[in-house]
Amino acid sequence: MSEDDFSNVCSKIDGEKEFLNAISQKIWNNPELAYKEEQAHETLTSALSRYGFEVQKNYLLPTAFRAEFSSKAVGGPVVAILLEYDALPNIGHACGHNLISEAGLAASLGVKAAMEADPKLVGTLVVLGTPAEEGGGGKIDLLNMGAFKGIDAAMMVHPSKFTSTFPPVLSRLSINVDFKGKEAHAAAFPWEGRNALDAAVAAYQNIGLLRQHIKPSSRIHAIITKGGVIPNIIPADSRLEVYVRAASQSDLNELTDCITNCIKSGATAARCTDAIEYKHKYCYLNLITNKILGDTYDYYAHKLGIIPTYFPSESMIPAGSTARGYMDSRRPSSHPFYDIGTESINHTKEFTVASSDPKSQGPTLKVAKALAMTALKLMRCPETLQKIKKQFEEDIAQGL
Ligand SMILES: [Zn+2]
Ligand SMILES: [Zn+2]
Repeated sequence: MSEDDFSNVCSKIDGEKEFLNAISQKIWNNPELAYKEEQAHETLTSALSRYGFEVQKNYLLPTAFRAEFSSKAVGGPVVAILLEYDALPNIGHACGHNLISEAGLAASLGVKAAMEADPKLVGTLVVLGTPAEEGGGGKIDLLNMGAFKGIDAAMMVHPSKFTSTFPPVLSRLSINVDFKGKEAHAAAFPWEGRNALDAAVAAYQNIGLLRQHIKPSSRIHAIITKGGVIPNIIPADSRLEVYVRAASQSDLNELTDCITNCIKSGATAARCTDAIEYKHKYCYLNLITNKILGDTYDYYAHKLGIIPTYFPSESMIPAGSTARGYMDSRRPSSHPFYDIGTESINHTKEFTVASSDPKSQGPTLKVAKALAMTALKLMRCPETLQKIKKQFEEDIAQGL
């Protein structure tokens, strides 16, 4: 079979499109938050079992799963397709993870069909269900627990209002601060009190002043989630929650130091104490798309008529962060964004609507095909996989 014959992929995905859409709609209609994606887990693992994958439910995490399909001949590359299926609080599938599941499932069916049709093909397809992208960091848990051991390359797609294979994605660290002061009657004995809300407000304002001096690619967002009970009690407790994002790990570290100073000086000014928690365990690293893997995907995407729509002019100022970024330092991977035909941006109610709109189906199935073709290319062409691994080693050596 020729290296670029993907007729099995396309006919399988097209043939299953109603079923795939039904799966997507089912997940969309039952939005579940990070680590609680029980129904999505059930829906996807049942679908994969039905199609003859060997499925491990509750793989390492209660709502993660692993499904495999291997060629009869042992060996060959191990290629992973990643699925996400968690939603956001209050606004449901505003990041379109139901479509990530659909595209990943579709691609997996396509790869399996092509593998079955070509007995000479040697390799393993791993379909990995990765919970908690929006909160926590399910992929980080899975990586730490060894889920990616033996996987040569990992890939997925993500819906967006843009199409880009090499999206700029930032590192992210979350910082929680609990300020502690002292309660006092706010009118009778204010001098006895230490106002923890003042500490949080001062820290918040210091961070605001810092903004003038940060790189355009960096981002800081902070909210005060606790700030008192009633006005006539000086607040003894307050809480500030901060996300820090930057284009590289070193930028992130530098900015984190500056923010720490802002927090500590706020606490000092209000004569309060601060307990700072850096959530390093779930620090998302900036995304490094493997150039060769990304180019391979782009080649097929282009053939399928997927046109890159570049991020807007401020595109050098990247968007969000993803737990995928953490993985990039360990495995060659790619995470293309694709346009689902909406003007809305992720994490809005409008994007939730777009994620179940029939208009999203055409692009989702197209990127699924490109994903399947990329996975098969790695199995059919060992040189491509070698180049991907070499690129990966260079990226790591450069400290990207
Ligand atoms: Zn999101
Ligand atoms: Zn997302």
